[in-house]
Amino acid sequence: MTDSESKPPAAADTAERIAFLGLGIMGSRMARNLRAAGHDVVVWNRTRSRADELGEPIADTPRAAAEGAGVVITMVVDAPQVEEVLFGDNGAAEGLSEGALVVDMSTIAPSAVKQIASRLSERGIGFVDAPVTGSKPRAEDGTLTIMAGGSDSDFARAKPLFEAMGKLIVHCGPSGHGAMVKLLNNALAAINAAALAEAIDVAETYGLDSDRLIQVMSAGSAKSTMLDLKARPMVERDYDPLFKLDHMLKDVRHCITEAKALGENFDLAANAEVLYAAAADAGYGDQDFAAVAEAVRQRTDAA
Ligand code: NAP
Repeated sequence: MTDSESKPPAAADTAERIAFLGLGIMGSRMARNLRAAGHDVVVWNRTRSRADELGEPIADTPRAAAEGAGVVITMVVDAPQVEEVLFGDNGAAEGLSEGALVVDMSTIAPSAVKQIASRLSERGIGFVDAPVTGSKPRAEDGTLTIMAGGSDSDFARAKPLFEAMGKLIVHCGPSGHGAMVKLLNNALAAINAAALAEAIDVAETYGLDSDRLIQVMSAGSAKSTMLDLKARPMVERDYDPLFKLDHMLKDVRHCITEAKALGENFDLAANAEVLYAAAADAGYGDQDFAAVAEAVRQRTDAA
């Protein structure tokens, strides 16, 4: 027997079946990593071909996926889509038994988390909000950061699953706290990327050599994760989506709304929102959020 034959997949810490709903850029990779860790994962996706790429077991509906599963994971877009797969026609909630757990890993508003948690609780089903950061490459290699909100016992039940998909796993607090941490994280990232886009635009208008600009900024106080990840795509206008601009816009808007509900201003996020909205209006919603640079360029051209 060769080494690779003698090495079984890492043993799953739980024997319960997992239903994974939503196989987009992130979900497809996360479901694959759960399977690679030895978990029994049935998948469902609205567009069937994406489920076919992962292979059986595949369910025809969220309800069918949930039947017999102990844990349902959703990774869709926003609260309306999470609600649709859980509570819509043939929704997962219909297929779950009392004592089951739903883990939503999409980025949705904390206020929506509370409503969904309450609806599931009426059926005796637990809920954990567990959004992620790390984008496509880290979803691929199972090193996402996962921030969770929920009870200690629900978090403990979900943790072995998180360990198959992520590296840093933080129980942020009760229901909604994972979602709120995520919104603040993304609002800061969005502001940072928008500021970078503006700096690159000024540099282009001035006629600077962008390679040298990036070289200097990378070594100094302007260094940031957004500089590392997005400066080159912005300069090269390469917007192959790792994280879609429409999704970033959604997150910034949720963060502003949640801040306002607390009586807080988040003016820099509001400024960034204008730029992301302009980029979405210009047709970049399905492209990477680095395309915020195009909204900045268009604003300069129009001036
Ligand atoms: P994506 O590639 O756009 O995938 C979206 C998924 O949602 C697809 O499986 C899509 O199904 C499904 N979906 C959309 N509308 C639906 C509906 N009405 N009913 C059922 N399913 C529906 O998005 P993603 O990049 O994987 O992101 C997923 C979530 O993670 C979002 O909340 C996003 O904000 C968050 N997130 C993304 C990243 C990233 O870097 N990409 C990082 C952190 C967090 P179809 O295949 O049928 O369209």
